[in-house]
Amino acid sequence: MTIDQVIEQTETERKAKKRARAKAYDQKHKAEKANYNKVYYQTHKATLKACHHSYYLGHIDQTRASAKAWAEDNPNRLKLTAKRWRGDNSEKCQAMHKTYENTHKEAIRARKQTYYKANRERVLAVQQAYRESHRDEINVSNRSYAQAHTKEASARMRAWRSANHDKDRANQRTWRHGHPEKVLAIAHRRRARKANARGADYTTAEMIAGRCEVWGWRCWLCGAPMEAVDHVIPLARGGTHWPANLRPCCGSCNSRKGARWPYDLTRGETET
Ligand SMILES: [Zn+2]
Repeated sequence: MTIDQVIEQTETERKAKKRARAKAYDQKHKAEKANYNKVYYQTHKATLKACHHSYYLGHIDQTRASAKAWAEDNPNRLKLTAKRWRGDNSEKCQAMHKTYENTHKEAIRARKQTYYKANRERVLAVQQAYRESHRDEINVSNRSYAQAHTKEASARMRAWRSANHDKDRANQRTWRHGHPEKVLAIAHRRRARKANARGADYTTAEMIAGRCEVWGWRCWLCGAPMEAVDHVIPLARGGTHWPANLRPCCGSCNSRKGARWPYDLTRGETET
């Protein structure tokens, strides 16, 4: 072994010993050191931050690269840190989201559209599942919204109707076809309203159906199958549109009776 080698070996050993001593010291004084760092950080916060910031500005590319590398190596820690930060700064977070939403409306819409186009089935399935599991809540909120926005709703309806004239008429035809009793009730109500009859705003198709049920859906005068609803005391004679004044009637009895009152059942009429 040459003298140089001996010197080098001694030097290496010396360095190793020094490192071990330093490590032992650190281990022994870990808490103290941490505390010292913490206190130092607290008392020099502004200076440290300014220092970091100026370093950052001078080394943007390096800092970003190393942050990116760290993030790639520590995905879970990154997630945890982000989560903790969001928890501590929820108001700030919300404000940031709001700002982003306001300044990136087009981008957000475009992104949503792209996603929808690529995942249509999935989106629809999710929406359907949500509707099914929240049906009651949705109904309540729809109802309260409708009650608070009746004017807007009818304006929208009118606008749609004038823009979709044919569709609207077709819809109405279909509805009338499917709800003859309601159509009849509406016609009656209109007539009753015109005659200023009491009950006009109250009596529903269901109530009229109830009256017809009482008479077995047959003309109350001759027993033929019903074709019309009769106002027993005619509207023209001050009769009401309350269910109590309504009875099923056949077409010919109805037109023979007309506005006559009192009405003689045996002779078919009483001239007044
Ligand atoms: Zn009859």
